[in-house]
Amino acid sequence: MQRLQTILDRIDHKSYGAYKDLQGSYDLDGFTLFVDRIQRDPFAPPSLIRARTYDNRFDPALFENPVRRVAFEDFLTRSVENALRRAVKGNRGSGGSGRIEIQRASQVVLPRSSMVVTGEHIEARMAVGLPARGRTVDARAAQAMLLEELPRVMREALTPAGVDVETARRHVETVEDADHLRQQLPGLGLIAFVADGSVLPRESGASDRPLRYGAVPFESPEEFRVTVELPNRGSVSGMGITEGVTVIVGGGFHGKSTLLSALAWGVYDHTVGDGREYVVTRADAVKIRAEDGRSVAGVDISGMIGELPGGRSTTSFSTSNASGSTSQAANIAEALEIGTSLLLLDEDTSATNFMIRDERMRELVEKEPISPFIDLVRPLYDSLGVSTVVVVGGVGDYLDVADRVILLEDYEPRDATQRAREVRMSFPARVPPGSSEATVTQPRGRRLQASSIDLRRGKRETARGKDLDTIELGRERVELSYLEQLAEAGQTEAIARIIGEFAAGNESRVVAEVVREALDSITKNGLDSLGSFRGHPGEMSLPRAQEVSAAINRVRSLQAATG
Ligand code: ADP
Ligand code: MG
Repeated sequence: MQRLQTILDRIDHKSYGAYKDLQGSYDLDGFTLFVDRIQRDPFAPPSLIRARTYDNRFDPALFENPVRRVAFEDFLTRSVENALRRAVKGNRGSGGSGRIEIQRASQVVLPRSSMVVTGEHIEARMAVGLPARGRTVDARAAQAMLLEELPRVMREALTPAGVDVETARRHVETVEDADHLRQQLPGLGLIAFVADGSVLPRESGASDRPLRYGAVPFESPEEFRVTVELPNRGSVSGMGITEGVTVIVGGGFHGKSTLLSALAWGVYDHTVGDGREYVVTRADAVKIRAEDGRSVAGVDISGMIGELPGGRSTTSFSTSNASGSTSQAANIAEALEIGTSLLLLDEDTSATNFMIRDERMRELVEKEPISPFIDLVRPLYDSLGVSTVVVVGGVGDYLDVADRVILLEDYEPRDATQRAREVRMSFPARVPPGSSEATVTQPRGRRLQASSIDLRRGKRETARGKDLDTIELGRERVELSYLEQLAEAGQTEAIARIIGEFAAGNESRVVAEVVREALDSITKNGLDSLGSFRGHPGEMSLPRAQEVSAAINRVRSLQAATG
């Protein structure tokens, strides 16, 4: 502590660059401080530190297996975030002066590089805006931050005395239960489960927090109710959605998209208080939507789209500007390529001509290369075992292909399967079901050309996350805002680094292999192994294989070939 104080006294009022003398490690009261990287000036990205406790006095049951450890680390990241808000004065001086931050956790629980719990210690990784007066060192403020505020945060956030241990236990047990529940799904023949009492609506279109007032809690229809045993909570009951084709119907504004969105997020575990703690979906589920304008590189969409104008290939379809329907077909083909057992579609965000074609259009338009999804949804399940949940408001023909129909009325779900059958009798489909000969085959895998991704930007090479929805690869910005299951910026950062490593490898590789290998390596060596410098690994969260491949597929310069 004395040493840190001495350095600070020496560099006070000097030019900002003098801060680099701080680099190194210090024994402070109760923890070791590692100063890994010092920013160049107060406006540059903040400096990176790690703070490691001398021991770990928490009950080892909180981190005794991998799922619990991830949950406990998640809890502690949130705990540090709260303590920082209480203890750190915040902006003082120029640029980012005076701020201390930890990776922002979204509503979902993920492995992150922000926190490491072992039997011996707890290490929090943070970013610090070293304070400046103009462009000179403000040692007085730095001293307050590192020797008063930071120790208080460590005490309040990372010791059993400062933390509400009961809340920590509940967090860990809830995550363990959700994870267990998700693993039970295949054995129960389910693709999703929504517990009674869940709160699905969100605060606003821009926030993933629960709606605080006026939310109607979810209650399963009797017909779909299943009860499952959880290791900590005991038995929990709710709506089980079985494999096959499920159609969600209901009037506008009656909660259809909200339910589907909850299912899409059910691939992740949620933090306590989210409202969707026990809403779980198959871990490989993919939300599919139209995304006109996206680029597509060598994707086999021939199972969905036949001959295109000019005899253009659909077994290896490339375009720099996909249409609504071809983008949606590519999204499905790519999801099948990386692997999925469940597709989630919402009429709101789908291309109409991809979803359906009515009798008149069949009659009038002869050259239609697209097999509408309504013809594919059964073969998808019957030949590939891929289930679908689809929200429809306007297209009643989907009742013909449904194994079950969920009707939402005033946010309350009902089993409308029988009623839908009666309706079909009274209003038979104009194009009888089963009359289509559409088949679906597993799309051929592609080899990606690593050399087509150019990381150069001036003299440097870059592959980094810019924000949740953007990756910077060299001079290209990869646009990810249509990946509806990308949860937080830390995932984007990890994906950027995975793509960077692949591009640097300069080989031609099968996409699924590239992704699996990268994720296996993370499982074995941790997220830190994606860090490019020693010490602080940066802010990363674990992405799913589906989002990693989806991001690669959206690189505009990407070249790939089937086979
Ligand atoms: P739909 O897709 O059927 O048109 P949405 O799912 O978009 O409807 O929901 C319409 C509105 O109702 C949204 O503002 C949503 O937040 C709200 N909402 C959805 N489910 C509930 C619920 N269970 N309780 C209260 N409000 C809800
Ligand atoms: Mg909707």
